Amino acid sequence: MKIAWKLTIIYSLILTIIISFLSFYYYFNTKTILIDEHRKDLYISGFGMGRGFMMGRMMGGRISSFYIATNTEIIQDPFNLGKVEKEGIYKSSDGSYVLIVKRDSLFIGKDITSTLYALDRLQNISILISILSIIPSTFISYFLSQKILYPIRKLIKDAKNIDIRDSNSRVEVPKTRDELWELANTINTMLERIERLYKREEEFSSDISHELKTPLTSILGYIKMLKRWGKEDKKILNESLDILEETTQNMVNMVDTLLEMAKTPENINYEEFSIKDFLEELREKVLNLYPEFQFNVYLDKERNLFTSRKALGIIMSILLENGVKNSLDKKVIDLGYQNGKLFVKDYGMGIPKEEIPKIFERFYKVDRSRSSKGYGLGLSLAKKLAESLGFEILVESKEGEGSTFYLQRKSV
Ligand code: ADP
Repeated sequence: MKIAWKLTIIYSLILTIIISFLSFYYYFNTKTILIDEHRKDLYISGFGMGRGFMMGRMMGGRISSFYIATNTEIIQDPFNLGKVEKEGIYKSSDGSYVLIVKRDSLFIGKDITSTLYALDRLQNISILISILSIIPSTFISYFLSQKILYPIRKLIKDAKNIDIRDSNSRVEVPKTRDELWELANTINTMLERIERLYKREEEFSSDISHELKTPLTSILGYIKMLKRWGKEDKKILNESLDILEETTQNMVNMVDTLLEMAKTPENINYEEFSIKDFLEELREKVLNLYPEFQFNVYLDKERNLFTSRKALGIIMSILLENGVKNSLDKKVIDLGYQNGKLFVKDYGMGIPKEEIPKIFERFYKVDRSRSSKGYGLGLSLAKKLAESLGFEILVESKEGEGSTFYLQRKSV
């Protein structure tokens, strides 16, 4: 069932109940007031008349429109009621209704038939009003639900027409700051996120195709060369095979990195470990890879870290490798943990200030001629991993002097 109909039913039910309640309240109130008035009448004039009658009887007079009786004796009964024992409304043999009240030792009564008939009519009108109120209630409720649902319908219509690639295509935000305003804003924020993601994916696929095209063209070139001359010329054969191996290996590395980037943070395995051991192990590893470099470890105080040792190892290796790749004559890299931050410091070519924010983007290289091996993916992977561990990477760099990359826990 549509919400519009649900609302209509609920509203009309509530309205009908309210109208019925009011009309019955009016009926019962009127009844009480009228009967009370008669009662009062009997208390005052009836009692007076009763006494008057006593006196009248004494004097031989008679008041015929009232019923008057004591506990034992009927003094006057113009309605043919007979003896009564308690207060109430009695029906006489001629069909009229008599209200009896008791005052001291006297029962006094009067005819209230016309009042009861009027009340009966009023009751019928109340029932009719209650039944007929369903019709206007339904109309009013339908109109109200349509009015309430209009902004939601508009939202649905807007949402249906959204083109995710068009940044101007958004749902209209209502003017009043209510739940719908919040919903429209939430949808728009979500759309922005999806659009950003969509654009990033688009860029990503075009970047990948572009990045893969260069090594693939080179591989194809070498295969063609091998086909033509490789069989006879051993030198060309060996050189081409070396280059083919290196290019293919580079591509494998790139695909590996991309796969690593696509991994979700849920796969992260947290553990507690000593920073000192971690840094020493890292140093040994990079020293094996780059024996011509000197790696100095600095640690202001020994402590443990609780995070993913493996992910932190990947981040630090990327930073160390970048230090190596971008170094100049001074083949020294410092690494360590000071003031609550892990760091990697090199004495290489540095990064121009305006390039620093861009180096974390995927496939971004400061200068394409600088590091021929990289694909501009390392820092973007490092950033992604750091974020999933709750860390952030900060950079200090001076062109010609070197760079320091800091890794610190993100302040919440
Ligand atoms: P790549 O894998 O190509 O090195 P990165 O994402 O790791 O890509 O780095 C992006 C760019 O940032 C690189 O092209 C490089 O020029 C620059 N860069 C990164 N680290 C350093 C560093 N320590 N010193 C100087 N430049 C750096």
